[in-house]
Amino acid sequence: MIPYARQSIDENDVAAVVEVLRSDFLTQGPVVPRFEERVASYCGAPNAVAMSNATSALHAAVRALGLQPGGLLWTSPISFVASANCGRYCGALVDFVDIDPRTYNMSVDALAGKLEVARSKGRLPDVVVIVDFAGQPCDLAAIAELRSEYGFRIVEDASHAVGAKYRGEPVGSGTFADVTVFSFHPVKIITTAEGGMALTNDDAVAERMRLLRSHGVTREQRLMSRERESWEYEQIDLGFNYRLTELQAALGIAQMDRIDEFIAQRRRIAQAYDEELRGLPVVIPHQSADSLSAYHLYPIQVRDEAPLDRRVLFERLRGEGIAANVHYMPIYMQPYYQALGFEPGYCPNAEAYYARALSLPMYASLTPVDQLRVTDALKRSIRV
Ligand SMILES: *Cc1c(COP(=O)(O)O)cnc(C)c1O
Repeated sequence: MIPYARQSIDENDVAAVVEVLRSDFLTQGPVVPRFEERVASYCGAPNAVAMSNATSALHAAVRALGLQPGGLLWTSPISFVASANCGRYCGALVDFVDIDPRTYNMSVDALAGKLEVARSKGRLPDVVVIVDFAGQPCDLAAIAELRSEYGFRIVEDASHAVGAKYRGEPVGSGTFADVTVFSFHPVKIITTAEGGMALTNDDAVAERMRLLRSHGVTREQRLMSRERESWEYEQIDLGFNYRLTELQAALGIAQMDRIDEFIAQRRRIAQAYDEELRGLPVVIPHQSADSLSAYHLYPIQVRDEAPLDRRVLFERLRGEGIAANVHYMPIYMQPYYQALGFEPGYCPNAEAYYARALSLPMYASLTPVDQLRVTDALKRSIRV
């Protein structure tokens, strides 16, 4: 089976992890800060906080930005459920803004319209979680402009987009989003097995996220309620254990050595798909002129005039040993969110996309031979 995604691990990755295994610290040692510095300097961000995964990083981010029980978080329906769940962890209400049918990212026009209505009702969101879907950055400048008008905070779920660029700047630089979150799950651009990171320009937000990562406990005198003995620590907030291990951080540093190569390979694969699929009844991913996608995914849509629908194509590809995938069912269509009152039809663009979407295999180590197997199988299947 050719998977839709997979990690790329080489001997340097293995050696880096083994070296940590033989060292004094398996967790809470010097390697996690080194990994944080590495990602921060790659992105040009002043603060990077490594976490156990992107889900915990999203939770810590929205908490650190002040999301409270009864607060309000908006996100994009075409994302992994974690983009919405982080609001529910805080006891906040979650709502969804429809996507742009071209980029599949949250529509800026839909956001602007929904904000205007929300203001008239006196119920503006506290946090908007935007998602750089498939690795393509959102229109960050336009969303930041809406932030100045309406006063919400921006969390950029860039789980798909480490290594992507927006207007020439790396995603995570902190120019637009309040916090940017990366995932290092094995299907993503670089991996630490499980792992995530939150980047921010705001030192106070970074400090709160560090506290939340480790039980809300501090050993820093300046944060404590009074003078303490040198063995004492204080718990000053209700935090979690969201730490990344030293083993994972070592893998992350080794993977960062290859991130530009990974992105170049993904972009090459995307270009080859673009060319091979020309003339077929499918919609290929749109590349915005002002950004550079990291191509975590290569999502196509099967056009209505195609002789077969997405479900049949999906099954035929499976039958040919190609494990295509679908990203994503709109989050509010999940039973958990349906039980909260969301009805089918809520975001028509998201639902139209979901009905036709298919993610083709996309990973840095996908060989030209395997990619040809994918496109040949696709052509054979779709013409029948
Ligand atoms: C993968 C992913 C997450 C969750 O990442 P984990 O590191 O597995 O917690 C969150 N949001 C999006 C958009 C993702 O693709």
